[in-house]
Amino acid sequence: MQTQAITVELRLPGLAVWGVEEREDAVEVVAQYAATDAECPRCQQPTWQVHQTHRQYKRDAQLWGKQVWILIWKRRFRCRRCRYVFMEPDPSCGRRRRTTHRLRETVARQAEDATVRTVSRWHAVSEGLVQRGWLEAHLAPAVAPTPHVLIGLDGFCVRRPARCGPASGTSRRGILSRSSPASASWTCSACSNAMPTATRSTR
Ligand SMILES: [Zn+2]
Repeated sequence: MQTQAITVELRLPGLAVWGVEEREDAVEVVAQYAATDAECPRCQQPTWQVHQTHRQYKRDAQLWGKQVWILIWKRRFRCRRCRYVFMEPDPSCGRRRRTTHRLRETVARQAEDATVRTVSRWHAVSEGLVQRGWLEAHLAPAVAPTPHVLIGLDGFCVRRPARCGPASGTSRRGILSRSSPASASWTCSACSNAMPTATRSTR
């Protein structure tokens, strides 16, 4: 007998689907992380002992105009070594988040072409969630532990014997990060120091 039913992948990392219920206005997915153990954040030892299990509803991006809810059976593990109890990681949503990364990325992308209020109405979420999703998507990456000295040098120095070739990215302490492993022992410290200040960081 022909039916209208099809199957789509959940595409949330690590989650194993236990069941799906489609209602008139929503789709509810019951899932749990497939990993059977987790690493203790205190002593970094893996443990398989489950201390407790909680149900947590997570709001996901819509599918065919229907709200998708992910009901995750989250586990709290007890470390076999140091007895520390901790919640398993949640890579699909993030720590203590009630929405999936996918939903926050979706509203952030749509907020570039529509107002925050409009996007919040499309997804029936708060305007604050749209704003936080946009910030999460556009915040600057973390600052490198060691500050970079030179930026954007691009193969301009021909002074001998210190020769520079094509390079990309940034350099640290005057040493270029090379884009090609050829021509070993390229160095830029000597030649960049010899360059005029105005041209050192603009090419
Ligand atoms: Zn431990």
